[in-house]
Amino acid sequence: TPPRNSNAARDIAYALHPYTDHKAHLQNGPLVISRGKGVRVFDEQGKEYIESVAGLWCASLGFDNERLVQAAADQMRKLPFYHAFTAKSHEPLIDLSEMLIERAPSPMSKVFFANSGSEANDSAIKMIWYMNNAIGRPEKKKIIARLKGYHGITLAAASLTGLPANHKLFDLPLSGFHHISTPHHYHNAQPGESEEDFATRLAEELEQKILAEGPETVAAFWAEPIMGAGGVILPPAGYFPKIQAVLKKYDVLFVADEVICGFWRTGSYWGSQTLGIQPDILVCAKALSASYLPISAVMVSEQVFQGIAEGSSSVGTWGHGFTYSGHPVPAAVAIETLKIYDEMDIGGHVKRVGAHMQAQLRARFADHPLVGEVRGTGLIGAIELVADKATKTNFDPGQKVGGRLTKLGEENGVILRAMTNDSIGFSPPLIITEEEVDEMLNRVAKSLDEVMVQVRRESIAAV
Ligand code: PMP
Repeated sequence: TPPRNSNAARDIAYALHPYTDHKAHLQNGPLVISRGKGVRVFDEQGKEYIESVAGLWCASLGFDNERLVQAAADQMRKLPFYHAFTAKSHEPLIDLSEMLIERAPSPMSKVFFANSGSEANDSAIKMIWYMNNAIGRPEKKKIIARLKGYHGITLAAASLTGLPANHKLFDLPLSGFHHISTPHHYHNAQPGESEEDFATRLAEELEQKILAEGPETVAAFWAEPIMGAGGVILPPAGYFPKIQAVLKKYDVLFVADEVICGFWRTGSYWGSQTLGIQPDILVCAKALSASYLPISAVMVSEQVFQGIAEGSSSVGTWGHGFTYSGHPVPAAVAIETLKIYDEMDIGGHVKRVGAHMQAQLRARFADHPLVGEVRGTGLIGAIELVADKATKTNFDPGQKVGGRLTKLGEENGVILRAMTNDSIGFSPPLIITEEEVDEMLNRVAKSLDEVMVQVRRESIAAV
C-alpha cells in the first residue's frame, strides 16, 4: 500500500481536518502518526517527534502506558457497556465519582459524565438553566465568559469560547452569552499599570457588565484558570479572588473549566488551586483519562445539586444525558489514571520538572529577538513571537510565522502548537523528564533560529 501522504492515497480518501487549509492539505497530505512511546510519537516512516503539547494537551501519561491498556481490557471483558439513564449505574461510574469528589478543589457533591470538554460545558450550562428554572428564577440565564477563553465547539460551548474563528460564519455566540476582556497583562494592561491594578480594573469591568445586564439575569461566569488554546494566558496577580468577590456579591456561579489545567498540569492538582478559585462547578476531561479513551466530567456543589433536585417536582424531569455518559470502559481507564497520578506522585514530579521547564524557557527564549513574552507555570507554558519586541507588535497573520515554526519543528523532530498571535504552547506529557525537556527545547530553539533567518531575509528583501 502507498504511504498515506502519497498522491495515490490522497486520491482515495480525505478526512476533513479541523483548523486546516484544505486546499494546501490536498497538496501536502497529512502527517500520519503511527505509534507512540513515552513523550514521543513516530510517523509511518518511523521518524520520531517529541510531543510538546501531548497531542492537544491530552496524553498526560505519555503514549504507551500498559496499565491503562490493561484497565480498559479488563473492563471490556467484565462489562463493556452500560448506561447511566433512569437511575442505572455501574461500579466504574460510582468509584470514579467518589474519587473525583474526594479530589475536588472546593466542596463538590455530585458528578455528571460526558464524552468531551464541549459536551461537559454544554451540560453545565443546561444544569444551571435547569436549576434556575427549578428554583423559580428562570430569567437568571445569561453567562459571562472571556475573550480568548476556549470552552469547546458545540453551539453552546462555542458561545462560551471567546475566539473569533469559532464565532465567525456560525452566527455565534448565541444570545445571552457575553465576553469580557482577556486578562493578559502583556498586551492589555495600560502603560505602567501594575498586575494588581490591572486585576482590579478587570474585576470592575465584570461588575459593570453584571450591573448593565441586570444581576437578576446573570447566572454564571466561565473561566479556565489559565487560558490554554487562547495562547496559554496567565491572569495577573490577584485576578481570580477579585473576580470571585464580584460574583458572590451578585449571586453568580463560578464555573472553572479545568479541561486543560486539571490533574497537576499547573503544579497543583487543579488550576483552581494554583490560581485561588473556589468553583461552584468544575468541568474536566483530557488528563482525566490520560486521553486514552474519551470521558469528561462536570462536578457540582451541593447547592447546585439541591437546585437541580428541586426540578423533578417543580418543573419536570432533568431531560439531558448522553448514551455514553459515564461509559464503563473510559471510566475504568480514568480510575486507573487517577491511581497512577497518586502512586507515582506526579504532582511532585510536575513541580520539579515544571520548574526546570519554566527556567529553561526563560533562559533560552526571553532574550530571543523573535520572542515577546515567555509565560507559564508547572508544565504549561508558551512563548509568544513578535515582529517588534519594543512595541509588542505581533507578526502580520499573513506571514504565518507560527505555522512556519511548527513546520520546521516537525522537520527537527518536535510537534508544536501555534495559537493566536503566534503563541507557541507547551504542555508536554506530565511524565516528561528534565533531559527530555532539554531535548524538546533544543529542537524548538533550532527551529526558531531557522524561522528568524527566514524572517530576516524577507524583511531585507522588502526594503
Ligand atoms: N475546554 C477547554 C479548556 C479546552 O481546552 C477544550 C479543548 N481543547 C475544551 C473545553 C473542549 O474539549 P473537546 O475538544 O473535548 O470538546
